[in-house]
Amino acid sequence: MSGGASNLEILLSADSVYDFADKVEALQMVTAHDTSLIHLLKSEMASVKKQKTAIEQNRQAAADAKTSVSEKQGELSGFVREAQGVINDMSAKESSLQSASDDFAQKEEAASQAIDKWYADYQASQEKKKVELAQKQASQQKRSVSAKTAGSSSVADSTSGGAGAIGSGSMVWPVPSCQVITTYFGQVDEVHSHPHKGVDIGASYGSTIVAPDSGTVVMAGAGAGYEGYGNVVAIDHGNGLISLCAHMSSVAVSSGQTVAKGQVIGYVGSTGYSTGPHCHFEVRLNGTPVNPMNYV
Ligand SMILES: [Zn+2]
Repeated sequence: MSGGASNLEILLSADSVYDFADKVEALQMVTAHDTSLIHLLKSEMASVKKQKTAIEQNRQAAADAKTSVSEKQGELSGFVREAQGVINDMSAKESSLQSASDDFAQKEEAASQAIDKWYADYQASQEKKKVELAQKQASQQKRSVSAKTAGSSSVADSTSGGAGAIGSGSMVWPVPSCQVITTYFGQVDEVHSHPHKGVDIGASYGSTIVAPDSGTVVMAGAGAGYEGYGNVVAIDHGNGLISLCAHMSSVAVSSGQTVAKGQVIGYVGSTGYSTGPHCHFEVRLNGTPVNPMNYV
């Protein structure tokens, strides 16, 4: 209803019964209209209130979700940090292992070079001996010839023609109790950066090692320069072949001794640059490493 007049004033201003009736009807219509308007407003207000509540609930849910997301983010970055730590730790361990392995490979190579030098020196000394022997024989022959010419009796040549026992050329397996090969001839891997010069026999500590063939012991025990090989026994088989067993816990022969094929020469160990008990068995033909499997 609009205007400042009250319902009573409107009714009192009627100038006839009909006019009064008209005014009453008009007032009733206005009141009904107002009432429905009020109902509409009330329901709209209720709806707005409902919506407001829903919005507030949504806002709370959104806030809760945001909190949960940031909590999860925090948790996740914690995991990421932890994983990164593990990765860093692992790569540190890897590089330390790599340098240990490089170090081991370097030492092994140094020992291998030292033993190569030993072979070369040994070969040279044998050659020298041969030359000296030949010279001695030649001069003896000369003397003998001149003595004969002079009519005297000849001088017998008592010098032997070679170094010690001559092997058969075929060898027996040096570790009778174990046939397991852990590293093959020529093998290159994480531990052996250069081709392996022999075969490694994975025998247990203390297993017996025997002479692969008969011959003369030319190296027994640990030597300067080739410490990496640990306790070694090398046998000159007299036919250009030298066999060598390394990393022994102890040796059972001494240098210069003549040994028979199959005779005990030492025991399996892990002396020198070795990662566990094994027998490194190598064969050299005129100083050059050859595959031992071709001789056993
Ligand atoms: Zn080896």
